[in-house]
Amino acid sequence: MVPIFPRGEEGCPPRRSPGVDGFGGRAVDVVVVGAGQAGLSSAYHLARTGFVPERDTVVVDHAPGPGGAWQFRWPSLTYGRVHGMHSLPGMELETDPADALRSSSEVVSGYFAAYERRFGIRVHRPVDVPAVREGPGGLLRVETSAGVLLTRALISATGTWDRPFVPRYPGQDSFLGRQLHTARYAGPEEFAGLRVVVVGGGASGTQHLMEIAPLAASTTWVTRTPPVFREGPFGEEQGRAAVALVEERVRRGLPPRSVVSVTGLPLTDAVRRARAEGVLDRLPMFDRITPAGVAWDDGGSIDADVILWATGFRPSIGHLAPLGLREPGGGVRVEGTRAVRDPRVHLVGYGPSASTIGANRAGRSAVNDIRRLLARERDGAGAAA
Ligand SMILES: Cc1cc2nc3c(=O)[nH]c(=O)nc-3n(C[C@H](O)[C@H](O)[C@H](O)COP(=O)(O)OP(=O)(O)OC[C@H]3O[C@@H](n4cnc5c(N)ncnc54)[C@H](O)[C@@H]3O)c2cc1C
Repeated sequence: MVPIFPRGEEGCPPRRSPGVDGFGGRAVDVVVVGAGQAGLSSAYHLARTGFVPERDTVVVDHAPGPGGAWQFRWPSLTYGRVHGMHSLPGMELETDPADALRSSSEVVSGYFAAYERRFGIRVHRPVDVPAVREGPGGLLRVETSAGVLLTRALISATGTWDRPFVPRYPGQDSFLGRQLHTARYAGPEEFAGLRVVVVGGGASGTQHLMEIAPLAASTTWVTRTPPVFREGPFGEEQGRAAVALVEERVRRGLPPRSVVSVTGLPLTDAVRRARAEGVLDRLPMFDRITPAGVAWDDGGSIDADVILWATGFRPSIGHLAPLGLREPGGGVRVEGTRAVRDPRVHLVGYGPSASTIGANRAGRSAVNDIRRLLARERDGAGAAA
């Protein structure tokens, strides 16, 4: 079978080789890993509250350029199609009507680049962090592709894009067509004339179907549970309710659910049209994958050239594994953004803060919490002296 991801590379972007920067084991107050919405918001609040960039704090990111995960989003995901992008703190994302037709990747990456320049946020890139572990003297040891950093506190703002999730189904390896995940979707053109099965009931799945259907020989939509279409606006009240649901899971140490499972799918005009045309007629999840397509235990089957897995992402927190933060339920339990098992570690953009607005707030709250932690440490050291 054709591999879903190229060899050794699960998601985007590729791992980087060592040696671009050379941190050489120096110690700082705070290391921020990841420079997407969550990391930049944190870096902004760190600088605003008196931490001196590069002396007290270091920001690293393994992607090649500014934009966080947005730099990798498919070109046909235009800015006009994203759900609602909140500006970073301190600088509005100003767009004009023409920007609605530009790719969101270009618009957001340009904005993040300007933001980094405006606030003098130095992002060391491409610098990968494969592991964070206990270091000497109560410090955390951050192992990077550019050498080791020691730090009193860590903000992990690594998002989910690097961990695309593909469920396993019997017969998956026997499929003779192509399988790919949303993370590798580059637009509808490559599906012209093909029979495509799209798996997944989230916003990505419906967007892929609406783009691919006019070009493909056929499209089939399968989802595990029936999709929930949401009438009416998604205001602050609904937003708060959705966040509360994710918060509740994370507090219990369970892995956060997908955003769509708590927000539902917005019934836009395009979605209404697609439903009327039958593009969004959904089938229950198949039971098996065969060499020729997908099959159900009731005897039904559909032949396919492509299976497109729009099955979401998982939090990208493998670098924290040596710290043993995971609960038996598989998630990291957090109070606000602070890891319950290690108060030096904050997860920003994780669970309830995994949205552009949530990441903004979480960045501020993580920085306030870290300031209190470091102040307590200083007071403790002063009293002991
Ligand atoms: C298709 C799609 C559309 C979306 N649309 C919206 C929307 O319209 N509105 C909205 O609010 N949210 C949307 N979201 C959710 C969105 O991703 C978040 O809101 C937000 O952009 C995430 O910001 P972040 O900083 O947490 O993560 P990211 O933007 O993913 O940034 C994480 C950064 O960490 C870096 N990184 C990761 N691991 C490491 C490591 N080990 N070492 C070094 N660097 C590392 C990555 O390179 C990346 O730059 C969407 C998500 C998807 C998948």
